[in-house]
Amino acid sequence: MYCVTEPHRDAGTHPWFERVLAPILHDLGATCAASFEIRDARWEGQSISAGISFVICHSLGAEKRVSVVASGKPWHDIADTADKVQDVATDALWFEGLSPVWPECPEHPGSHALLATVVSERPVWLCPANREVIAEIGTLSDPSPQVDSA
Ligand SMILES: [Zn+2]
Repeated sequence: MYCVTEPHRDAGTHPWFERVLAPILHDLGATCAASFEIRDARWEGQSISAGISFVICHSLGAEKRVSVVASGKPWHDIADTADKVQDVATDALWFEGLSPVWPECPEHPGSHALLATVVSERPVWLCPANREVIAEIGTLSDPSPQVDSA
């Protein structure tokens, strides 16, 4: 069972944040067995080089503050944020007694997680073993297809 609570959107939420976090929330919701809530998101600074800071909370109570600096390159920011969220997701899975691998490499099940990186100005999940691009970040799908697609 998984559940990703949409981040709280207040007047201070910056569009950059939504753009960067949306694909990662999608991948978490599609493929991560642990559940999270993201809250206390704060846009810090006013310039182009500003960043965002948010707290990602696991359902068992663990929480971690994640800060990301906006580089001006969205693909880089998405990969950077995915890498940080991956740490939290890995911890959460371990806490729940599940395999602490997220997102699991579909080509090598049971061995390793994918690596968040940038290839040709696209944020992608890469297999760290054969360096193959598995999917663009934000396009992972549930490995166990569900009938309920509404
Ligand atoms: Zn692999």
